[in-house]
Amino acid sequence: MREAAIGIDLGTTNSVVAISSNGVPRVIAADGKHKINPSMVAFLNDGRILVGRRAKAVQQRLPERTIYNTKRLIGRFFGSEEVERVRTLVPFELMEGPRGDVHVAVGDRAFSATDISSILLNFLKKATERTLNEEIRKAVITVPAHFNDNQRHATQSAARMAGLEPIRILNEPTAAAIAYGLRKGMWKRVAVYDFGGGTFDISILDIAGDIFEVAATAGDTYLGGADIDRLIAQDFVDHVTKRYGVEVGAIPGFIHNLLPVAEQVKILLSENAEVVFNLEGIRIEGKTVDLQMELTQRRLAELSHELVQRSFLVCDDALRLAGLRADDIDEVVLTGGQTMMPVVQQAVAAYFRKAPRIGINPMEAVAIGAAVLAEQLTLPQRPAVQSFFGAGKGAGSTSGALGPAGDDDLELD
Ligand code: ADP
Ligand code: MG
Repeated sequence: MREAAIGIDLGTTNSVVAISSNGVPRVIAADGKHKINPSMVAFLNDGRILVGRRAKAVQQRLPERTIYNTKRLIGRFFGSEEVERVRTLVPFELMEGPRGDVHVAVGDRAFSATDISSILLNFLKKATERTLNEEIRKAVITVPAHFNDNQRHATQSAARMAGLEPIRILNEPTAAAIAYGLRKGMWKRVAVYDFGGGTFDISILDIAGDIFEVAATAGDTYLGGADIDRLIAQDFVDHVTKRYGVEVGAIPGFIHNLLPVAEQVKILLSENAEVVFNLEGIRIEGKTVDLQMELTQRRLAELSHELVQRSFLVCDDALRLAGLRADDIDEVVLTGGQTMMPVVQQAVAAYFRKAPRIGINPMEAVAIGAAVLAEQLTLPQRPAVQSFFGAGKGAGSTSGALGPAGDDDLELD
């Protein structure tokens, strides 16, 4: 009997686990209901550890003990600029680990970024085991195409610590392409447009016969859905200020507390032309009131226009690196939750002058692709694997000329 292997999208904002059997992939709901798990770990005062949605639920109450954004820290040196930037953004404490890596301090304990990732991975492993009533020991885990060897190795160590054998570290854009059935043997140039919660990535994949490689990748590590939430929250503030003449934006924490509502409204506006909602407990002239507000898709499009357009400057870079024009792209694949916003889809279609693929939930596509590969890698005979990666040891290395992103599918020791 074959040993099942899972596919894991270990995201900056959310993580997703999927499994494929008999060629049919499905996403696992960790608590039986929710398939999207916030990449958060909360360390309660009584020693308990909460992961995913349950961690997010205590974040407002325990900001110093609820750890997130560790994907920005894993495999990086404490002294790096990126780590400095994260430090200014998060309410928990970062410190230097024994090997110059990054740790988070929680009370009198410290955890490395790798430890936090391993807690997330173990949570997803256990969720799958509970759902399937079967032990899971192997996984394909995805990472951004721009991850360097250090970051890939640290992700691999996190998997081992979580009790998972990482049978492949796979690039996220490649996983998304696999989810859409794109594979070796085809002749296609594919753009994978990934607009997530905190980061934007664009990758150009070159599938040319037996070559399947990342021809170019570019990104903005500080362009994501959370930035759109902030613009919406600021718009609420401007609105309240104008209507009541009260500078609510100056109240400490006011905008911050509006962010969850802003995100909810944004998500509803992906399916509705207009959303009416209540802002509760707003203090105006000494009184606490509930305000009825509304936001339209059109207004959201205006608010986010500049931000969305910034993603296309990054696309320009990627095309330039690959030596291509938008017209040369045969397929456009969307991943990342923020691509569910209608104006994003329209803008992508306009930029590439073709309709993007959208059949698969963009928050699940990467995990699904990883699961499909995981199944193929664990088949008793591996015929289909060859169609992705060729045969034999080191088959992961793509042949032919490598673009700036290098091998698509790094074989780790
Ligand atoms: P990451 O890859 O960074 O972990 P995700 O792909 O999970 O990120 O995307 C998370 C982002 O997608 C969040 O900013 C969230 O608000 C946004 N999002 C989720 N669903 C929708 C939706 N239906 N419409 C618009 N944005 C959405
Ligand atoms: Mg992602």
